[in-house]
Amino acid sequence: MIGAMFHRLIRKRDGAPDPDTWRSVAAGFAFLDHLDAAGRERLRTLCGRFLERKQISGAAGFEPDETVRLSIAIQACLPIVYLDLAAYEGFVEIVVYPARFLVPREQVDDAGVVHESIDALSGEAMDGGPVVLSWEDTAAEGLDGGTSVVIHEFVHKLDLLDGMADGTPPLPPGRRRRWREVLERSFEWYVAELDELEALIPHTVDPESPAADHWYRQLPLDPYAATDHAEFFAVAAETFFLEPGVLADALPEFYRELALFFRQDPLVAPKEC
Ligand SMILES: [Zn+2]
Repeated sequence: MIGAMFHRLIRKRDGAPDPDTWRSVAAGFAFLDHLDAAGRERLRTLCGRFLERKQISGAAGFEPDETVRLSIAIQACLPIVYLDLAAYEGFVEIVVYPARFLVPREQVDDAGVVHESIDALSGEAMDGGPVVLSWEDTAAEGLDGGTSVVIHEFVHKLDLLDGMADGTPPLPPGRRRRWREVLERSFEWYVAELDELEALIPHTVDPESPAADHWYRQLPLDPYAATDHAEFFAVAAETFFLEPGVLADALPEFYRELALFFRQDPLVAPKEC
């Protein structure tokens, strides 16, 4: 049938995901709601091109299926839907574990003593290397409380485009100066808020335990944001897309910088109903 063949050829050329799979997977991500019909179509096409260029492989016996691939593509491409896919050039591989994966770490303290530990990670982005993800933390049903490990790791990739993980993506000089001022101010404010809150946690409560969540939930961002400027940018970007109202209320200046950079404002509903 010529019609069917033509359709297949068209599909092959733009690589966009099949509309039915797209609809069912995209429906799981409420944070796409601010995109209008043209924005969603742009995202679908971008996801197709992304999946053609990236090699998504499983680890520890995990086999990524179409839902896994598309779930990753949607969250990875949302930040760049109005930018350029070239932003993600320079690496090809995405490795997916079924759940959190263990990474051995070595840290040298001020006294020169080496501390060895094993961290359980939900994601990791290496400069020039692969993005590693835990499927349990990537699936739509695994996203809780404004976090997306995929958005987080791919925002690190945007940050790294100029070769530095410093919380500042490539920007024209004037915008870059403004971004750095706002980033610094927002980061300092957040660290002070975190210090103030931690002083309120009773000594009987272990800050690392779930019992401390009650206190940390009062913060606009996950405490990991206080690590450094790079983590602040990545964590704030997650909140920007998943809980935009929370970020806009707490850090309106940084919210504006993010909206300008990503060329989208998740607080503005699409024009058509
Ligand atoms: Zn990070």
